[in-house]
Formats: sequence, structure tokens, C-alpha cells
Amino acid sequence: MDLFNPTEEHLALREMVRDFVEKEVDPQAEHHDREESFNIELFRKVGALGLLGITVDERWGGAGMDATAAVIVHEELSAADPGFCLAFLAHSMLFVNNLSVNGNDEQRARLLPDVCSGKKIGGMCMSEPGAGTDVLGMRTTAVQDGEDWILNGAKMWITNGAVSDTELGDVFLVYANTGGTGGKSLSLFLVEKGMAGFRLGQKIKGKLGVRASTTAELVFDNVRVPACNVVGTQGNAVRSMMRNLEIERLTLAAMSLGIARRSVEVMIRYANERQAFGQPLNRFGQIQRHIAESYAEYMAGRCYVYNTAQNLALDSFGNRTDSDGVKLYCSTMGKNVADRAIQVLGGYGYVAEYQVERLWRDAKLLEIGGGTNEAHQKNMTRDLVGRTILR
Ligand SMILES: Cc1cc2nc3c(=O)[nH]c(=O)nc-3n(C[C@H](O)[C@H](O)[C@H](O)COP(=O)(O)OP(=O)(O)OC[C@H]3O[C@@H](n4cnc5c(N)ncnc54)[C@H](O)[C@@H]3O)c2cc1C
Repeated sequence: MDLFNPTEEHLALREMVRDFVEKEVDPQAEHHDREESFNIELFRKVGALGLLGITVDERWGGAGMDATAAVIVHEELSAADPGFCLAFLAHSMLFVNNLSVNGNDEQRARLLPDVCSGKKIGGMCMSEPGAGTDVLGMRTTAVQDGEDWILNGAKMWITNGAVSDTELGDVFLVYANTGGTGGKSLSLFLVEKGMAGFRLGQKIKGKLGVRASTTAELVFDNVRVPACNVVGTQGNAVRSMMRNLEIERLTLAAMSLGIARRSVEVMIRYANERQAFGQPLNRFGQIQRHIAESYAEYMAGRCYVYNTAQNLALDSFGNRTDSDGVKLYCSTMGKNVADRAIQVLGGYGYVAEYQVERLWRDAKLLEIGGGTNEAHQKNMTRDLVGRTILR
């Protein structure tokens, strides 16, 4: 066993997902990118494999595995279809893992079995039309009314917010301002399709990449949320947000690994086969540089991601520097490697058939979503400023 497959169980998981990806994910990816559509049937097959609750305890319908297992699934899915993988991540990390870690037993028993099976599709609502990086500047409010809470506002860029052009996703974790100052101002609510006043604002069309995932604006107009749908305690949601951001950033970095790995595979294969000036492309020094540097950067990122995964406990936090670090490094690495793959393939790299133009478009999202690279640089420097000796 090695860093990437630390146990027999991890290796079996990787082989199972890789086999599924080859048979089911690769063949559909180009179509759903072109159509900008979410493949809900495929999503339910992923549920049947037990992957949607990969980090959730078995008693709630999950697979009971660790952060390394989550990384393996994201790396493998993303190699074929980063757009579909983003929908998977928003569901299984931002909703399912978040509720599993931060919810109470009543909420877990009520919701986790259906989201682990894929019967219900979930997402997480943090960003707003006017506030992304500046998360404490959010304007969505929740005001107590008797035992209930009344939610007002709008959320933007919500992955799985819609499952089709007109239909909402099923269930969301929504951060809202409940008064108080700074880190004590946010609370977390479960909001479900069918609650009066909760509606789809707009489904975002024309994205550059990750087009096989849906992105939507969600609107909350005097939505009455019962007390049993408050996750954690009032004013304590910044803590749960930070905890879940670590696994979010780690698995987003794993998506970049999948993109880089597939890009390296495509460029190696093409450079072996394509002839120019009477010899294969891989005889040319400039092409060798593209291949070798891409492989080395992929492996450096891979070691950093799997090493960070080994040290990330799902139920606590404190690994922010490296969960930001892996995403900072791997997002740009994945984009650069996909870019080199296009270059190695020349004109063929620029069209859909060889996949790398889609990977390049998808890779860009990872420098923005789940925290921009500038936000990671800011957080990491804040953490590192006192650490003048690194051990
Ligand atoms: C396809 C897609 C899917 C998404 N899915 C979700 C989701 O499921 N749930 C969710 O809640 N959000 C989601 N997001 C939102 C995403 O997390 C935000 O877009 C991201 O956090 C950036 O916020 P913003 O777009 O408001 O940009 P802004 O915060 O306005 O930033 C704009 C620019 O200013 C920079 N900037 C801002 N503040 C600083 C600073 N202090 N110092 C230096 N530079 C700064 C940024 O780095 C960026 O370059 C998604 C976004 C996309 C595109």
C-alpha cells in the first residue's frame, strides 16, 4: 500500500470507481457539457454504488470512510467529467458531509438516508449576489418568530440549486445572518423544496466550464423554517462553515488532480502516435518538456493532497493552511497541465473529441469556486506569518 491507496479498502474503492468511470461516466461527459445538463440518472447510479455518503457513518446510510476515500472518488470522477464531479461534490461534501458532521441525530436520521441513496439532491448556500469572498457581508437574514425562523434574501451560484431548467434541488444548507457581530452573526438552516416562499430565481446559463453541473440563484421570500431545521446553535455557524470548508477545498484540489492526470495521459498517448517530420512528437525536446513538467507537477500536487487528506479529521478543524494550500497549488497546476495538453495536441487539442479543451475550461472554475486563489493566499499568509521555522 502507498500514500495514494493507504489500505486495501482504499485500493478497492479506487478500482471500483475507475471501472464505473470507464463504463458510465466517460461516455456521457461530452454530451452533458454540450447540452449544459445534469445527468440525474448517472447521479442515482453513483448513489447505488454507495458513494454519495462516502464519509457518513453506516448507520445513516453512508460508507463510513475517511478524507482519503473522498479524495480518491473525486480524483477518479473528475478525470472523466469535472462538471458531473462538481455536482457530486456539492451534494456529498457540502450538504451530506456537512450535515453529518454538524447536524444532530434527529436531522441525520431524517435526511441522511435519502441523500446518501440519491433519492434527494442537496446543496449548500453561502455565496450571494453581493457577497462571495466577503462571507460575513452576506445579506440573507433569519429572524425568530415564536419557535420558527423567517428567512429572507437570495443566494447565488448554488451548485445543484436546480436539477433541470425549472426544477429546484431538494434540500439545502443555508447560511443566514441572525444578528450578533462578526463570527457570531451566522446561523445554519435546512431549507427544503416545497417550503412556501422558497423558489428558483434563475438557472445560470452559458458557463465557461463545469457545464454538466447546474448553477442557480435561489430566493427566500419570508420562508418559515421550523426550529428543528436549525443546524447547530444560533450564531455558531462560522465554526461549522470553516470545518466543512477544509474537506471542500481538499476535494476541489482532488478534482484538479483528476484533470491533470487525464491531461497527462492524453498528451503522452498523442505524442507517441502523432508523427511530424518523420518521427513521433515525443522525440522533440519542447514536447518532452510539456510532458515531463506536467507529470512532475501532477505528482507533486498529488503527494500534497493525499498527505493533507491523511491528516484531516472530518469532525474537527485546524488544517486550514494546507486545505487552502492544496487547492491553491492544484487548481493552477490542473489548469496549466490541461493547457499544455492542448498545446501538445495542436489543432486536435482545440476541439471536443480529445477532451482536453473541456478539461481546460473546467479547470478554471477551481481557481474561483470554494474560495478564490486570492482568498487562499490571504488565509495562508495569515496562518504562516508567525511560523518563521517550518517543521
Ligand atoms: C460554477 C460555480 C459554482 C459555485 N457553487 C457554489 C455553491 O454551491 N455554493 C456557494 O455558496 N457558492 C458557490 N459558488 C460561489 C463561489 O464560491 C464564489 O464565486 C467565490 O467564493 C468568489 O466569490 P464572488 O464570485 O462573489 O467574487 P468576489 O468575492 O466578489 O471576488 C472578486 C475578485 O476579487 C478578489 N477579492 C475579493 N476579496 C478580496 C480580498 N480581500 N483580497 C484580495 N482579493 C479579493 C477575488 O479573489 C476575486 O478575484 C460557485 C461559483 C461558481 C462560479
